[in-house]
Amino acid sequence: SLLATVSHELKTPLTSILGYSEMLSEQLVGPLNDEQREYLRTIHDRGMHLLNMITGLLDMSKLELGTLSMKRSNGKPLELAREVATTMLPIAKKRNVTLLFECTEERFETRFDPVRLGQVITNVVENAIKFTPDGGKVLLSDRIVEAYEGDEGDVGFALTAVPKQFYELRVLDNGVGIPEHLRDRIFDAFYQVDSSTTRGHGGTGLGLAIAKRVIEAHGGTIEAKPNEPQGTMFLIRIPANDGARKSIPSVALFSSSLPPEGTDTGDPFP
Ligand code: ADP
Repeated sequence: SLLATVSHELKTPLTSILGYSEMLSEQLVGPLNDEQREYLRTIHDRGMHLLNMITGLLDMSKLELGTLSMKRSNGKPLELAREVATTMLPIAKKRNVTLLFECTEERFETRFDPVRLGQVITNVVENAIKFTPDGGKVLLSDRIVEAYEGDEGDVGFALTAVPKQFYELRVLDNGVGIPEHLRDRIFDAFYQVDSSTTRGHGGTGLGLAIAKRVIEAHGGTIEAKPNEPQGTMFLIRIPANDGARKSIPSVALFSSSLPPEGTDTGDPFP
């Protein structure tokens, strides 16, 4: 497609711009004063932002064309969620946000692309941390739900359909929240609720647009809901393999790496 070609063509000169700005700031060709270094940092930051947008656009166009290859294999979504939580823990700590991992569906297995689904979960957890102020909480939990598949892959009602099992990952935060009338728009490309604050967060507004396409390519759904009394709850559902509809009793196991003892005040996360 045109978009894919253009994105690809934009990457080459941009990579060169980034490389030269790095060389300059490493003072390989001569000393720089503070002001010059600062200008170079801006060039580099803006360039990286542009690169992220181009990479995102490329992914989106591939997803739309159906040419983004999904490498699905059998795996445990809980393990993936735990890996993401472990990776994000230092970032949460740095922002003084408590990250809690309370997933329990240890035994649930289904087919998914671990790289792509990992990116989606990372994006959602990253957002939860990003949009939660100092002292806030982000919680990951899961459960198995039975739902009906609607026409558009919608989980909802279709009276004649057979209920299907889904793994549901919930990412809850008690941050700034999303106004109700904008709750669907955040899945549009480039949409940011408050671009002035978001710009400071360095996002591209493409993350959730890509996430939605990836999840839908898995036959699942992603949605945002309010978290009472404050914040946002993201629900990511991916279907069980056909024929794997029997309920599996869940075993509660606490991750050894998350969170350290004593960080949870026992205060149940709303
Ligand atoms: P980005 O994070 O790069 O801006 P996304 O597509 O990931 O782009 O998110 C789009 C917008 O949705 C964000 O800019 C933000 O306004 C809103 N958003 C996403 N997650 C949350 C959240 N947990 N709490 C509040 N707002 C959120």
